[in-house]
Amino acid sequence: MEGRRLVYMDHAATTATAPAVVEAMLPYFTDHFGNPSSVYKIAREAKAAVDEAREKMARALSAKPEEIYFTSGGTEADNWAIKGIAFANKQKGNHIITSAIEHHAVLHTCQYLEKMGFEVTYLPVDEYGRVDPAAVEAAITDKTILISIMFANNEIGTIEPIAAIGALARKKGIYFHTDAVQAIGHVPIDVGAMQIDLLSLSGHKFNGPKGIGALYIRKGVKIDNFMHGGGQERKRRAGTENLAAIVGIGVAIERVTASMEQEAKRLIVLRDRLRDGILEKIPHARLNGHPTERLPGNMNISFEFIEGESILLFLDHAGISASTGSACTSGSLEPSHVMLAIGLPHELAHGSLRMTLGEENTEEEVDYLLGVLPGIVERLRTMSPLYADYKRSCNV
Ligand SMILES: *Cc1c(COP(=O)(O)O)cnc(C)c1O
Repeated sequence: MEGRRLVYMDHAATTATAPAVVEAMLPYFTDHFGNPSSVYKIAREAKAAVDEAREKMARALSAKPEEIYFTSGGTEADNWAIKGIAFANKQKGNHIITSAIEHHAVLHTCQYLEKMGFEVTYLPVDEYGRVDPAAVEAAITDKTILISIMFANNEIGTIEPIAAIGALARKKGIYFHTDAVQAIGHVPIDVGAMQIDLLSLSGHKFNGPKGIGALYIRKGVKIDNFMHGGGQERKRRAGTENLAAIVGIGVAIERVTASMEQEAKRLIVLRDRLRDGILEKIPHARLNGHPTERLPGNMNISFEFIEGESILLFLDHAGISASTGSACTSGSLEPSHVMLAIGLPHELAHGSLRMTLGEENTEEEVDYLLGVLPGIVERLRTMSPLYADYKRSCNV
């Protein structure tokens, strides 16, 4: 094995903060530490920096700056959007429509609301992980107040028909929220053209800092506050602004948007090289997610007879950081809700490997993975009783 090389292929989990972003943030911890709510010079400078970041974020979404509210991340933005709409509109109805493959920040928030008397429809998806807009329409009742469908899935990378669902929601007068944490900075988003009312995003998924995100709230949307306290964020999200991180997320979004088109093309080539190489070299492997309607950096493949967790350990030993769809929650070996929703049987749902590429990944790294993975899979299969059974059945 070669030295101590490190190949990071888990960009859907988090990304490194870009050096230019760190550099832009640093002065806001020290020289420019003012509280944006105060009145003197260093405070006004801090306020100006927050305003500038807000403008950058608005530009990236084709939104207005006053429609951007900074939060502590994607999870808070999802919680705010869903609970805020539910509580502010409960006189109108108590029904929410979402999908079975949402991030837990959406699913667990909806489950909490069910305990509070709301009704939630969890729409199924097709074998590629796509939500059918016709199914959304069919699920709407006169009590529906919110539709929340993610822009792109974090496990299998499938991109949802957001503009179609947005058009439908607008026509019916129902609020439409999308968790765009995986999509922003990687695929074009226009909240106006796509008729999105609320959109969640997070800094650390596009080479910005952790602990900072934003909720886009279209002007005129009726939503309750989530954080109560001071008058920050135009009296809608209390708490002293995370100044340095806000500066950082502004630089990060500007940076990733500027290179998005080119970088997407580059990543699609690498992604498809990964897919073709794996499916060519390794038998009994299956692509998860949509063949083309997927995030540029996402590849997810299931391997029969073995467990994704074991593959990860061997990959880690070879210096490769990747992920699995069956990330077991606190030791329990429950397969991922996404893998089950696309109809994978339990065995395959456990055998999935997610490789998510980002800006520092190269063709050489992809080829390095393609060099080591077949041996790992073969080794694990020789230890697998399921594979032994299969071989025996073939010989009969
Ligand atoms: C990462 C992620 C989140 C959570 O964002 P945080 O900033 O880590 O709280 C929510 N939704 C999706 C789709 C994600 O990938």
